[in-house]
Amino acid sequence: MKIPAILAMLAALSGCAADPIAPAPASNAAPAATEVEITRDAAGWQARFRFAEDAPVWAFERSALLRREETPWRPKSWTVATPGVSLVRIGDFDALVADSGTVPREVVIRFRPLAEDIIADYDPAIILSDGSLALYGGHFNAFPMDSREAVAVLREPREYPARIALTAAGAPLLFDGRRMTRAEAVGDRYVYVGDVSLAADDPVATILDPGLPRWISGQLRDFTPAVFRDYEAMMGSHKSSRPMVIASWAGAEFRGASTGGSVSPGLITMRLEGTQLLKETPGALHQMRWFIAHEAAHFWLGQTVGYATPDEAWITEGGADFLAMGAALRADAGFDAAKFTAEARADCAAALAKGPLADARRRGDQRAYYACGSLFAAAVEAAGRPRGKGFADFVRTLIATDSDGRLTAAEWLAAARKFGVPPEQLARIDALRAGMPDAAPVIAALLGD
Ligand SMILES: [Zn+2]
Repeated sequence: MKIPAILAMLAALSGCAADPIAPAPASNAAPAATEVEITRDAAGWQARFRFAEDAPVWAFERSALLRREETPWRPKSWTVATPGVSLVRIGDFDALVADSGTVPREVVIRFRPLAEDIIADYDPAIILSDGSLALYGGHFNAFPMDSREAVAVLREPREYPARIALTAAGAPLLFDGRRMTRAEAVGDRYVYVGDVSLAADDPVATILDPGLPRWISGQLRDFTPAVFRDYEAMMGSHKSSRPMVIASWAGAEFRGASTGGSVSPGLITMRLEGTQLLKETPGALHQMRWFIAHEAAHFWLGQTVGYATPDEAWITEGGADFLAMGAALRADAGFDAAKFTAEARADCAAALAKGPLADARRRGDQRAYYACGSLFAAAVEAAGRPRGKGFADFVRTLIATDSDGRLTAAEWLAAARKFGVPPEQLARIDALRAGMPDAAPVIAALLGD
């Protein structure tokens, strides 16, 4: 199995930042909310929209295409049950349109949950082998438009308030870290429909597909809560409610090994498939652990305290990678930390030769933030070592002292100075951030060799 390829795929799929879509703010003053009631009965799933105003078109905020076919996904999943209304594609948007006049205030669609990959957005559903599933609420957000022509030329979705609730005929749900039978204010999050055994002190709800190869579920069952517990002991509590981790198994028909993942508010998902994953290999085990450990770190460094601008993603991505390295070492003393650092050094130096770190994302080089940021975290770790402190203690101080949860580079550097990082080290970090043709000697000095 090609580990680098899987690494790259995980990094690409994790899309670590936050939401892949940031809707433009609404131009008009606070309209009333659309109410959406998602239910399951003997006939299947339906969504009942109650629109707050009259409009000839309701377009869907999230209208990305299927990755494989590059076609809209809703026609594969949704059927409009209300007469006089059609589901159509207009420009960049899926939309409900009235055959004449305005769309009725109440529209019912029936749907078959669709577990397919869509481009740069969340899968509509995650379906496990036992039929339990998670549904993504954000795909039910729609906004009114005056005409089809207006939608055709629209570039960015509009934001419109919606109250989305979900029930499954009394079946147990897991939402916002708690078991319930009706989820309300679902918003842009997944609701898991299925039964999860959960102890009051579980730091994370780990949902494992019963079809997963036993070695994978065994490893994830132990490793996932251990990572969250360790991080909590090291950094204190994060601000989210109890996270969910869902690992699904897509079968062994694919002859290789495919390990994909994504992250959405409160949820880490992994999708595993392939003949090569039927038996344990060190590479596959490491990749799964790394993915969980990196994404779990974001509940502290990313969500509880994050960056002020994605230009400074090194604060969260580098920090999460450094914390993941610690978790990988705790899980496996044989983990090759030297290789991790060597790769970070090489990738960081290569990125900085092309320009400032802040501009890396505009050069299509997201990796720079992981690589350089993990080296900056290593410098913080080294500065704390004489006092028996580490990078996790530094994150704890960031969380304790940051007022708005959005760190600038200047705030990070000031906190690092307070933590005991010497001025000459801070100067090196500053110099590296600006970019330089040959960063290797400065990186070597930063790492003390
Ligand atoms: Zn990340």
